[in-house]
Amino acid sequence: MDSQGKEDSGHIIKQIFVPHCARGPKRCEKCKQMAEEKKYCLLQIYFHGGKVTRPVLELETDDKRQWYEFDLIKTFNDENEAKMYANEHEIRFIEN
Ligand SMILES: [Zn+2]
Repeated sequence: MDSQGKEDSGHIIKQIFVPHCARGPKRCEKCKQMAEEKKYCLLQIYFHGGKVTRPVLELETDDKRQWYEFDLIKTFNDENEAKMYANEHEIRFIEN
């Protein structure tokens, strides 16, 4: 994913549906609203599964698709802000 092949985790910026709470869109109005809108987020991706239960997302690296656990670090207000942050901190920006 990046030049530090031995790292267990890395940062990316990607548009995701931000989870609001554990109740989910069926039981929570706020979740329902948020499930309709993707936001640009700074994510910490874990390359090896850990003992902590985390949300997962599918990512394409080296031509193969794989599921990775992640933590949500930060959300951005818009694409510009996300791209600027990616440039500034040399974080991989994933378009979709
Ligand atoms: Zn909720």
